[in-house]
Amino acid sequence: MSDDQHIPAPLRLFNSLTRSIEAFAPIEENHARVYSCGPTVYNYQHIGNMRAYVFADTLGRTLAFKGYRLTHVINITDVGHLTSDADQGDDKMEKAAAAQGQSAWDIAAFYTAEFKRDLAWLNVRDPARWTVATQYVPQMIEAAKQIADTHCYELPSGLYFDVSTVADYGHLARAVTEEGEGRIDEVEGKRHAADFAIWRRTPQGETRQMEWDSPWGRGAPGWHLECSVMSRVELGLPFDIHTGGIDHREIHHPNEIAQNQAIQGFDSNHGHLDCAQNSGARIWMHNNFLIDRGGKMSKSSGEFLRLQLLADRGYHPLAYRLLCLQAHYRSELEFSWDNLAAALTRLKRLVMGVEGLKARAEGVTWQSPRIDYLRANLHPRLAPLLEQFEAAIADDLMTPRALPLLEETIGMRKVPVDEKLCLIAAFDRALGLNLLTLTRADLRVQPKDAQITPEEIEAALERRTAARAEKDFALSDEIRDSLIARGVEVMDGDPLRWDWRLTLG
Ligand code: AMP
Ligand code: ZN
Repeated sequence: MSDDQHIPAPLRLFNSLTRSIEAFAPIEENHARVYSCGPTVYNYQHIGNMRAYVFADTLGRTLAFKGYRLTHVINITDVGHLTSDADQGDDKMEKAAAAQGQSAWDIAAFYTAEFKRDLAWLNVRDPARWTVATQYVPQMIEAAKQIADTHCYELPSGLYFDVSTVADYGHLARAVTEEGEGRIDEVEGKRHAADFAIWRRTPQGETRQMEWDSPWGRGAPGWHLECSVMSRVELGLPFDIHTGGIDHREIHHPNEIAQNQAIQGFDSNHGHLDCAQNSGARIWMHNNFLIDRGGKMSKSSGEFLRLQLLADRGYHPLAYRLLCLQAHYRSELEFSWDNLAAALTRLKRLVMGVEGLKARAEGVTWQSPRIDYLRANLHPRLAPLLEQFEAAIADDLMTPRALPLLEETIGMRKVPVDEKLCLIAAFDRALGLNLLTLTRADLRVQPKDAQITPEEIEAALERRTAARAEKDFALSDEIRDSLIARGVEVMDGDPLRWDWRLTLG
């Protein structure tokens, strides 16, 4: 270790449970165990949902960057999530199956595959384990049995959790009263408005596509129970970090916490384990919403913005990842096509910068070393950039502050090109923009409605260049006008040397 090696900033994360930034100290030495609430696979995910996974991935990458071994679990909810988080309405999966005339199992398989394709497009890394709710039903029934006598009561519609049996119910949400957030108690016989079903009995005379036998009748587990059980089975209680979108801070996570308190309290028969210490995870983290002009993006309102739609309009999915990283995860982020276009331009600049460095490094072998090696051996002009980068991401994942350091590195003068590439590769391990492999050609995503191929455009532009060389400006203008008519904007003198872009979409 050289004398001037900096001491890396310790990782600090905002804990929604305490509403404060805390130093991260894993329960098991050097091992970070993280659970992220995954999608309910009854429909496509919109880009707002995808922000939650870009955030979870950035957290995982940051933990790995800081040297922790990471065990990340994301679940797939393929049963049990009702149309309202507050435990009312229909099961989203069964409803979608009925509407689309397919089996609930087929619906789940289809949208799970679509979701995973979107994750791959966004360069979100696979977790150590995907937990699929329907594969954990026996453990869910066991957990419900464990707490049934001490924390639950039965109604004709199923087994309900009595929130008054745990201390500080709703502490995470900071707002829960008997009235909840205006929740309506639609289920007759519930003791408190906030009580929730952990087992839903199939109504008499009906059959569900997804149902199992249980001591409380044939039926299906509740959504909140699923996450409590899957996180405990795969990670053990307590684990380090639980993530989800900020909407989960209000109902889903308080309910998970209540169950975790109950499950942990059973052996000693307390039932009143303190919430802060026994929530099941040390740190609860929530990403804020992606919004559009109309407010929170949702599947039921306005244009359904999927990643596929962005690609159909000619935007590379990683431009959306960059858009997310440009905002801090705890801030609302407004989506607009202009914002996305600006992120794409920034990504183009980054890719072109790195391509230039790679071209200059031809023949020089370089590889991306471990961070501790970089800390000790980096060129003195680059060392402060690494230090600042580490400080930024360690400061509750301040990616907006980290990104300009990437640009500074690309532009830094009088530094060997291979050293710059090493540092960029290290930064990109945390940011996940694929900068070392992405090319200009990759970023030219063809809009779905385009009437003209890139080859035809390039050929027309070559004819135009020849016409201009011969000072035949009439022909040059004619070619340009015909391109415009086909949806191609010719960008003479574009500083990025991009030359043209398709304006369709
Ligand atoms: P769901 O499939 O509805 O359970 O949602 C999947 C994830 O996306 C959850 O973590 C939600 O909290 C999160 N989420 C939903 N809407 C948004 C949004 N507009 N912006 C950011 N995250 C969201
Ligand atoms: Zn969950």
